[in-house]
Amino acid sequence: MAYRSRALWAEVDLSALRHNISVLKRTVYPAQLAVVVKANGYGHGATQIARQASELGVSFFCVATVEEGIELKDADIKGEVIVLMEPEREYIEEALAKDLTLTIYNARTLVEVVASWQRLARGSKSTSSPKIHIKVDTGMHRLGVSEEEALELARLARDSGVSVGGLSSHLAVADAGELGRGYTLEQIARFERVVARLATINIRPSLLHLANTAGGVAYPSARYDLVRSGIGVYGYLPSQEINLVGLRPVMSLKSRVSFVRRLKAGEAVSYGLRRPLASASFIATVPIGYADGLRRTLFDRGQEVLIKGERVPIAGTVTMDQIMIDCGDVEVAQGEEVVLLGRQGANVVTALEWAEALETIPYEVLTSIAARVPRIYIDGSDKGADPYRVDL
Ligand SMILES: *Cc1c(COP(=O)(O)O)cnc(C)c1O
Repeated sequence: MAYRSRALWAEVDLSALRHNISVLKRTVYPAQLAVVVKANGYGHGATQIARQASELGVSFFCVATVEEGIELKDADIKGEVIVLMEPEREYIEEALAKDLTLTIYNARTLVEVVASWQRLARGSKSTSSPKIHIKVDTGMHRLGVSEEEALELARLARDSGVSVGGLSSHLAVADAGELGRGYTLEQIARFERVVARLATINIRPSLLHLANTAGGVAYPSARYDLVRSGIGVYGYLPSQEINLVGLRPVMSLKSRVSFVRRLKAGEAVSYGLRRPLASASFIATVPIGYADGLRRTLFDRGQEVLIKGERVPIAGTVTMDQIMIDCGDVEVAQGEEVVLLGRQGANVVTALEWAEALETIPYEVLTSIAARVPRIYIDGSDKGADPYRVDL
């Protein structure tokens, strides 16, 4: 109950999630969809997202860290969990014991994987052969071995009795439309070359994966066996250059008015008294602040929120736990629902709107919703899951 002591919650609509997954599955078919649930499922709750996806037949999940992978395994999510970054040495054994698929791009790490595997086998925790995917750098230049090193790493794996289950890479500009086309095609060609060269030494990883949401939508030739999709699953496009219709935002952010007062023209609210009112106004306090992920800059950018179906602006500086909103002549009462992200009546505020105001991308907005904001899971048919509603 501690989490419910104030009226602020992120509503995660599982029916929207199911819709997006089926749109994406159809789009990338016959490649399979790997649902990316790193960073707590882009803020939506990794295990809940993975469980729902799993029920729709998704059997690949991507996480950034071993901890994130273990969370899925401990929640009994079926399917292959691919850890996208190499773990620190001390965590390799646990990762293998949990049957996580490791992404490898350092020979030293591969040696550790083999040693950990042998230790586990000696301890008769009879683990199956380690699952490894080699990551090759085709142009993102974040992680991954060169073409030459990919061959060496694959040979080292084979000589150590470990089969290379996958080969992966990552696209840098697949979301950039025409501007990114030449470079993306070059990345695809480099990936192809590595696949072909591995085949000449008789190594044929069964899972090839290169594309994120943008690559999977815009470049059919980048789909291979798996498309690793994150942002699309959560209902947003990677950029305005990507054409995929019908995705639905999965997360809404809602609250309730905690206090109301009428102020006169010329009065101002919050730290700095920064924006005197042009006319008398109902000012409502809402229990969400920058510590919840509502960035201070949103006030300066004139961001609006929804109340009684109207768009009204934030009235003064965003504080750590609260904001004040300027409802003008709209008379509101304590307990009135406020939608920060999502739909109310005919109006919608999306994470893209915040992202544009903040000069960032929806990814950052979604992953910035703080852990202290409880996630409430609803199904589209539900009339909203407001856990604070008091029926009078
Ligand atoms: C985060 C990530 C993805 C998902 O990207 P989206 O644009 O959200 O689809 C895919 N692959 C890798 C390696 C990633 O780090």
